[in-house]
Amino acid sequence: MPRKKAQNGAPSNDRENKKPKKKTSSKKTGGRKKTDSTVKKEIEEHTAQEFLPDKISMKSLRAAAADCRGCDLYKNATQTVFGEGASKARVMFIGEQPGDAEDKAGHPFVGPAGKLLHKALQDAGIAESASYFTNAVKHFKFAWKGKRRLHGKPRRLEVLACMPWLQAEIQEVKPHVIVCLGATAAQALLGPSFRVTQHRGEIMPSLLAPHIVATIHPSAILRAPDDETRHEEMAKFVDDLRKIAKVINEHED
Ligand code: SF4
Repeated sequence: MPRKKAQNGAPSNDRENKKPKKKTSSKKTGGRKKTDSTVKKEIEEHTAQEFLPDKISMKSLRAAAADCRGCDLYKNATQTVFGEGASKARVMFIGEQPGDAEDKAGHPFVGPAGKLLHKALQDAGIAESASYFTNAVKHFKFAWKGKRRLHGKPRRLEVLACMPWLQAEIQEVKPHVIVCLGATAAQALLGPSFRVTQHRGEIMPSLLAPHIVATIHPSAILRAPDDETRHEEMAKFVDDLRKIAKVINEHED
């Protein structure tokens, strides 16, 4: 059973890898201060690690993830939305978390942002049959607003808790290129100080895969204020994907 810790600046849930923190510092969350020891305890208590199957395969991972209780996000979501795609995909796309449509369907990237991603992949010449799609967090986090469920950004604690699933997916699929879609996925794998705005589209070497790259999440294109900006953002996104297509094609030549 692989218990390999995350690499390339990726956070790990292993206790021994936690940096000792100063006793005096504290964090303010929701109007209350949390000491570092409280945060550390929370991280240690919230992890998907114990839910991983003994024998790792995509099938066993998917089945085990359905019963994950590694953090509290399972409580309100409909179901776990595990990754899907080619079992030995050359490129793995990692988003933040399932959205409303994904939560109901049980499949990743089937909502409006997912449809936009699939269209961009087509425009960039990246085959779906060469791709695997997943999220940093496998349960939908939301807040009710009337009858609508509004997306809620997962806390770092929740991203860390869910990391064992993502690590296992990467180890099983062994993609040639990992594509982080948006800040949550990028910071999960490249460290909390990574900024997509500063390093967007940079193809970087990685210990997780031969190449890793970060770009925006397609939902950012949907949030563009007008059609003109939306078209511009879509064109830039497709340009990022074309660079990735080139790396994949070079690998195959
Ligand atoms: S979000 Fe991840 S760690 Fe939390 S319950 Fe769901 S699968 Fe488990």
